[in-house]
Amino acid sequence: MKAKRPAKRRRSLCFFYIAGLLIPVALLLALASALLRDASGESPAPSTLSDNPASPAPSLGIAGGWEEDSPWQLRLVNSAHPLPEDWAPDLTVLDPYTGEEFDSRAVGYLNEMLSAMESEGLQPLVCSGYRSYESQVRIFQDNVEDAIAQGFSQEEAEQQASLWVMPPGCSEHQSGLAADIVSQENQRLDDTQEDTPEQQWLHAHCQDYGFILRYPPDKTDITGVNYEPWHYRYVGADAARAIMAQGICLEEYSPA
Ligand SMILES: [Zn+2]
Repeated sequence: MKAKRPAKRRRSLCFFYIAGLLIPVALLLALASALLRDASGESPAPSTLSDNPASPAPSLGIAGGWEEDSPWQLRLVNSAHPLPEDWAPDLTVLDPYTGEEFDSRAVGYLNEMLSAMESEGLQPLVCSGYRSYESQVRIFQDNVEDAIAQGFSQEEAEQQASLWVMPPGCSEHQSGLAADIVSQENQRLDDTQEDTPEQQWLHAHCQDYGFILRYPPDKTDITGVNYEPWHYRYVGADAARAIMAQGICLEEYSPA
């Protein structure tokens, strides 16, 4: 089912939030560098950029049952399993107003989930879908340049940037199978998102549409990414139900 949703309801402010966040990120980097000097655990502050890697870098050696010949929807993408530069999934535009795109093989399931939410009076908004290798390079490089402007060396700046943004190839958004879904009433990419009725519905029902909450709060040491209550990944209904029911993450999942 791909019920048409009124496009105006999904007109996005989210893009502007993200664009606006690139400016204060220089300030955040400066704060992070100060905090990191005595940080011994996880990242000192949650990044407002999506898919903020956890710090310190965890071991990502756990790869579950994923193999090169695993089904497409189970492909593992993280710092230890980057996508090649020429990765080019077939895409479908999800929303003409935002221009967000999603893998054509899974976009129907995403639309079905969004329509189910809207039929219950909820107002979900996909503020980030597919991201190209080039756009991830640009986002990463912007952060490196901001850090250099703060006085870091090139090497230090790259280390700093990697605390906030996944290096090119390593963002799951490049797979075309990940979507950041927020409430239209609260488009902030922070922990307040989990209190919205939209997230509570998604956390309870996403698996019925083949999606998982990809970066749960208790799996940061395995996923390498801080808790993101808004980031959903299509893995197919069987895997999604197993992963959500067992409270595991994709890195830990082995198809039967
Ligand atoms: Zn995301």
